[in-house]
Amino acid sequence: MTCLRCRGLMVRYWFMELLDETGQEHCRGWRCVNCGDLLDSVILQNEARRSVKASAAALRT
Ligand SMILES: [Zn+2]
Repeated sequence: MTCLRCRGLMVRYWFMELLDETGQEHCRGWRCVNCGDLLDSVILQNEARRSVKASAAALRT
């Protein structure tokens, strides 16, 4: 996994503040060790959607 911003190494990251009353984490993501950028599943989905749209736009031109 590489950072979308700087291409640095991304490591697994747990969003501890989002633990619910049962102690289960709800959100896991990735953190860049280089620039500190955070990625979670929502951000990744948005990024995937955006790149699909960009590819479609590139095909049209
Ligand atoms: Zn980075």
